[in-house]
Amino acid sequence: MCYFSADAENRSGTAAIQYNAKLMADTAPDKIKFSSLNLDPQILKAVEEEGYTEPTPIQAQAIPHVLAGRDLMAMAQTGTGKTAAFTLPLLQLLLPHASTSASPARHPIRALILTPTRELAIQVEKSVETYSKHVPLRSTVVFGGVDIKTQKPALMKGVEILVATPGRLLDHVESRNVLLNQVQVLILDEADRMLDMGFMPDLKRILTLLPKQRQTLLFSATFSDDIKKLAQDFLANPVTVEAERRNTAAETVKQSVLMVDHDNKFSVLADLLRARGLGSQALVFTRTKLTAARLARKLDREGIPADAIHGDKTQLERIKALDAFKEGKITALVATDVAARGLDIDQLPLVVNYELPTNAEDYVHRIGRTGRAGASGEAISLVDGEEERRLVEIEKLLKREFPRERAAVSPAPRAAPSHHRPARPSTPSHVKKPAEADDWFMKPYEPSQTASKIDEQPSHNQDKPKKQIGALLKRPPVKH
Ligand code: AMP
Repeated sequence: MCYFSADAENRSGTAAIQYNAKLMADTAPDKIKFSSLNLDPQILKAVEEEGYTEPTPIQAQAIPHVLAGRDLMAMAQTGTGKTAAFTLPLLQLLLPHASTSASPARHPIRALILTPTRELAIQVEKSVETYSKHVPLRSTVVFGGVDIKTQKPALMKGVEILVATPGRLLDHVESRNVLLNQVQVLILDEADRMLDMGFMPDLKRILTLLPKQRQTLLFSATFSDDIKKLAQDFLANPVTVEAERRNTAAETVKQSVLMVDHDNKFSVLADLLRARGLGSQALVFTRTKLTAARLARKLDREGIPADAIHGDKTQLERIKALDAFKEGKITALVATDVAARGLDIDQLPLVVNYELPTNAEDYVHRIGRTGRAGASGEAISLVDGEEERRLVEIEKLLKREFPRERAAVSPAPRAAPSHHRPARPSTPSHVKKPAEADDWFMKPYEPSQTASKIDEQPSHNQDKPKKQIGALLKRPPVKH
């Protein structure tokens, strides 16, 4: 279960999340207060300024262990407050080393936070900045896809806390921009995703560069056998804490399955979105980049404002699509699993699985985007015969069976009459003007040969400069 409702925009325009105190009061262990967690007043001040009144369950459980110097294995998804769960005690542990000196030598890297994607890296570093604003500890973030030279100055000045994606970190190691021999705390955020993305070899290399005597914290949305093995190899006698029950999907999400022939998926999706009204938004998942791109274009041409985010889009395109979605200018945001990772979208009522994920655990991640803070959310999966095998895997993981309802299919695909288009405050630039009919798009959806090859399971060097995976949020803030 997630504990936050996201219903406001903060000053910087990014999604602000309001913590649902009632839910937490129901579940927090012994109603622990921040003031009883032994955190420095300057750290607590930043927490208070964020408007947090009580620690979330994962924070209440994890912080005392981290402060005690224990290795930690924490099961927590985005939305549970996991970032503060490791950042707040980390700042406390590093406080004795805080220095206002300008000398880089006084600011060696003491904590390394590894994340699978650049989006998450940016988000985490932003949180580190927020919580450390009243203490003289420095942080910065490095990730692939941007010129490595632009990241060097901040590293050269010295930072205590470095947030990084594994591939780019190794690039900096090779360029001798960073030294990791004084790292006291290593944090692996979304470790399950790092393994899925093939970062194991990079992680192993990074581990050899760190002191053996260190504290290691592992955060993961799920505890698969691979994660347990990773913990065995990299952690010493860890404490296990759990914000979420094993592989359960949010209980507040109404999940359903519609059986539909592959060729009818598009019309079922379009009908579903129209029936709810184009003002009601949906995050639509596909397995491949190519399908995501095609689907968004096709929806848009059928009068359902849509855009896609996936690994082949530039950073700018992704920011535009996400902003348009957050501002309500588009009805459907079509995303691949990798691109949607860590997305924090306000009050998202519906997730549609246009294609089921290859990895059953991704289903849990996907539907976790809706139904936050006890708000009702819905997840609908459009499943064709070929995908039933995947559905069974998901059911096994969730230990429940979904009734297989047959989707009603409209007689024929129809182009939306112009009055179907919702009134938009202004035409977002990413929504293409209705073009002349393009026969290609009138054809029923067909899986392409290439699509199945371009299954978006990125390689370990996903964050290397060659690949354009843009940040969804703002430019990384760099503290000097
Ligand atoms: P995370 O799971 O780290 O992505 O955090 C999800 C959201 O919860 C972020 O927007 C945080 O600002 C917010 N948050 C974290 N801890 C608390 C807390 N104790 N009270 C209220 N909001 C919180």
